[in-house]
Amino acid sequence: MATGLNRVAEIYADRAARVTELKAGGKRIIGYLDIFPVVEMLTALDLVPYRLLGDLNEPITRADAYLPTVVCPFLRSVMDLGLKGKYDFLDGVVFAHGCEVSEKMAHIWRTYLHPPYAHFIDTPHTTHQAARKQHRELLKDFQKTLEEMTGQELTAEKLREAVNIHNRQRVLVRELYDLRKPDPPLISGAETVRVMVAVASLPVTEGNELLEQVIGEIKGRKDGPAPKPARLIVWGSIIDNTALVDLVESLGANVVMDDTTVGSRDYFPLVEITDDPRDGLADRYLVALRSPRTFRETVPDGNRRKDYMADLESRFGYLKDYAREWQVNGVILQVLRYCDIHGYEVPALKDYLESIGLPGIYLEHDYSKVALAQLRTRVQAFLEIIG
Ligand code: SF4
Repeated sequence: MATGLNRVAEIYADRAARVTELKAGGKRIIGYLDIFPVVEMLTALDLVPYRLLGDLNEPITRADAYLPTVVCPFLRSVMDLGLKGKYDFLDGVVFAHGCEVSEKMAHIWRTYLHPPYAHFIDTPHTTHQAARKQHRELLKDFQKTLEEMTGQELTAEKLREAVNIHNRQRVLVRELYDLRKPDPPLISGAETVRVMVAVASLPVTEGNELLEQVIGEIKGRKDGPAPKPARLIVWGSIIDNTALVDLVESLGANVVMDDTTVGSRDYFPLVEITDDPRDGLADRYLVALRSPRTFRETVPDGNRRKDYMADLESRFGYLKDYAREWQVNGVILQVLRYCDIHGYEVPALKDYLESIGLPGIYLEHDYSKVALAQLRTRVQAFLEIIG
């Protein structure tokens, strides 16, 4: 039997292989973009959620006719794959209002790729009571379209069961991340990226089995990463391939933690079980998910400087906790070109890191190996400073 990590490598190399098999057996596969579509509602109706990702190795040749080149290269890559028929196996797609450009791309996808089913959740951008109420209503609309498509009723019982299975996955991901806390970590940053991409390519129950297998193996392994002076957290835009982490780890660092969307940002917050499971889901996806795309109120105070620091603490305090728990001594702030959501956050995050004495380096790249290779010297210099 293939080991868990071998299975991860297979899925990472050919993400669609397993869902294509499942489709041949009669399952319906629904693509979703980013972390805001409520995937539990798909699982509850026996639909397989499949995360839409890009492909760094595939040159973008068709998307530029449909999207302006000032759209982030990750989205252009996803659109390019769609236009080239690489997502033709999907029975539908769900988008949400993650950022402005992903919202635009959702409509362009729908218009030009004609998916059999498409739904857009206009996720609010604040966490006020009115926004929470609105999000609950939006989930009811989503439910209606899913029920129409499947001809099945989405009962509270089915939804509760799906929440439990997805929460189980979140607990397992945290367990996997705990294995990065020792020095040296038991699993490298690049291996973790591969596991996370593989899990996002499988039905949730199969993802859970894979995670259990991988965690068991990692706990008993003798060939884990070597100790290195730099233990880093990578923050920022989506990382759906190992290129950046490989580069950093090859230069003498262990990437032991992340705050990205195919990583802890998506998986750490659990869904609270509520009487109507949609309430717990609506709040988890709107309030508990930490993303710079959601505006949160700052505590008002007469002293501007104090206000600013209080604001930074409420926005980034969790990173200090990560740094302590994962014994991090440096932060990589990486932003994809034209990713405004993360780019606008960088000055404040730099101020926060300075205030807690954690060195950071800002890297902008354009989702290509060539651009990443050019960052080599800067990363090297950063590692020398903190090493
Ligand atoms: S990387 Fe940035 S711009 Fe691109 S889809 Fe994600 S949040 Fe939006």
